[in-house]
Amino acid sequence: MSNNPAKPIPKVAVESLTGCAGELLVILDNLEKLVPFIRIMSFPFAQSKNEDGPLDIAFVEGSVSQPHDLEKLKRIRAKTRWLVAIGNCAVWGCVQAGSCSRCHADDMMHSVYGDTCKFEVMQAKPLEEFVKVDVRLSGCPINATQFLSVTASLLKDHLPFITHKPVCLECKLRETACVLIEKNLPCLGPVTAAGCGALCPRVGAACYGCWGPCQEPQMEAMATILQEKGYELDDVLSRLQTFGAPKELFTRMASEKN
Ligand code: SF4
Ligand code: SF4
Repeated sequence: MSNNPAKPIPKVAVESLTGCAGELLVILDNLEKLVPFIRIMSFPFAQSKNEDGPLDIAFVEGSVSQPHDLEKLKRIRAKTRWLVAIGNCAVWGCVQAGSCSRCHADDMMHSVYGDTCKFEVMQAKPLEEFVKVDVRLSGCPINATQFLSVTASLLKDHLPFITHKPVCLECKLRETACVLIEKNLPCLGPVTAAGCGALCPRVGAACYGCWGPCQEPQMEAMATILQEKGYELDDVLSRLQTFGAPKELFTRMASEKN
């Protein structure tokens, strides 16, 4: 779009729901590479003057965890062509939907802020539970190279290709020794989506799944392997669920346990 002077410069917004601003920082850090090709309509984290109006691309970070998140998300969806869920909170719900799923959001808020707590909260959910999402870019936070490549595709009017192969593929490509086999570490790389460049295994640490599930993750096989290595099924389930993998993926494991 941007290379054709006959076409208007694409209008972009970078917005946040309930998240920690990890993606916003990654985008801010790479903004100068994009500024010649886009017009930033709104980026409240980075600028004080923000405009309303139709958008070509809206990048949205964070999960829907409060009623005003949902209102904001619907407003953004209504005015944008491409809605990009950025980061694991937006794509999977992340820790607030995974680790925190065993307790009620209201109870958590009251235990932290006491009986006078005035926040209105919902059980945290990813964007796709409420609106159509055009592109899902996992990561906690997102990888800058993946972000730039996704944006470049959208600026050319193409839906981007994003790999959903497991982290193991990146270990193989980097010739990193398998920490699951070689060190017996509880690595979740086999069921976690690639994209981080196998950040943890390449420094000898186990992947803990922060990119969310890969395509068709073999959860039962993962649980079996970790159990064979001496890890408790409860710990395995808790590790697998931490970053918001959908409940359906655990149904069979839970029934095998009972
Ligand atoms: S995905 Fe990770 S980095 Fe992004 S907002 Fe959520 S917790 Fe923060
Ligand atoms: S190796 Fe796993 S835990 Fe580490 S950054 Fe990549 S996806 Fe996240």
